[in-house]
Amino acid sequence: MTLEGKTAVITGGSRGIGRAICKKLAGSGFNVGINYVSNPTAAEETLALVEQQGGKGFLCPFNVADTDAVNEAFKKITQDIAPVDILINNAGITRDGLMARMKDSDWQAVMDTNLKGAFSCSKAAMRGMMKSKWGRIVNITSVIGFLGNGGQVNYAAAKAGLVGLTKSMARELAGRNITVNCVAPGYIVTDMTDGLDSDIQQAILAQIPLGSLGEPEDVAASVAFLTSDDAKYITGQTIHVNGGMYMGN
Ligand code: NDP
Repeated sequence: MTLEGKTAVITGGSRGIGRAICKKLAGSGFNVGINYVSNPTAAEETLALVEQQGGKGFLCPFNVADTDAVNEAFKKITQDIAPVDILINNAGITRDGLMARMKDSDWQAVMDTNLKGAFSCSKAAMRGMMKSKWGRIVNITSVIGFLGNGGQVNYAAAKAGLVGLTKSMARELAGRNITVNCVAPGYIVTDMTDGLDSDIQQAILAQIPLGSLGEPEDVAASVAFLTSDDAKYITGQTIHVNGGMYMGN
């Protein structure tokens, strides 16, 4: 079955892992919606990269944490372009700090973007998928959701929550031929990990059997697989892309 021409939206598609996913899915022949919230220049660069490689894309700025903005954006994409066939919930932020000092606003911001954002975008996108009886949703969780991490209770809880969301959605949507899966990256070289002190980087590297941080393209390859017809019988699962840092389920 060819999936060429299907419409994909990648939240946080403008930079880092999201940019690599946009390029990879455009290479699969999908028309990729590049979402971002604050940095149009990065999003335009991503669109240019997609077009340079002969792919099709469009920009779709909205804040995933704002449910009304999400609903409005998916309505507009459906009207102006096409119903969304493939959704990659990738947008994510960190607001790190030890729990004893963590502000409620730092807890809430991470929950709203990393967990509620995936819920709202999925809910808005799945209407069209249910109608067409085909869809793919991939949620980008994290190794931290499985291991936990001091200083990241908000992030770890949101990422672990995505796994429960994924499994429940997979059960609800399987009858409509919509698969829902997670990809759980380990430490990947992006702006998010750029600020880590070199001693922290060394400590992380010591826990990675393959001996290096990952690249955004390593994550994008698994996302592309899960959106492909080769993965049509896989749902409710997590693919770990972490150099062996975590080997559980
Ligand atoms: P980056 O910080 O490099 O990029 C984040 C992207 O998300 C940007 O495109 C940003 O847009 C967008 N974004 C942030 N908040 C919102 C929002 N409220 N609404 C819409 N878009 C938003 O992150 P990474 O590429 O490193 O991470 C991507 C995903 O992978 C995240 O979910 C992250 O938690 C996860 N991950 C990353 C790992 C890593 O080591 N890098 C490891 C494990 C998981 P803008 O520029 O406009 O703000």
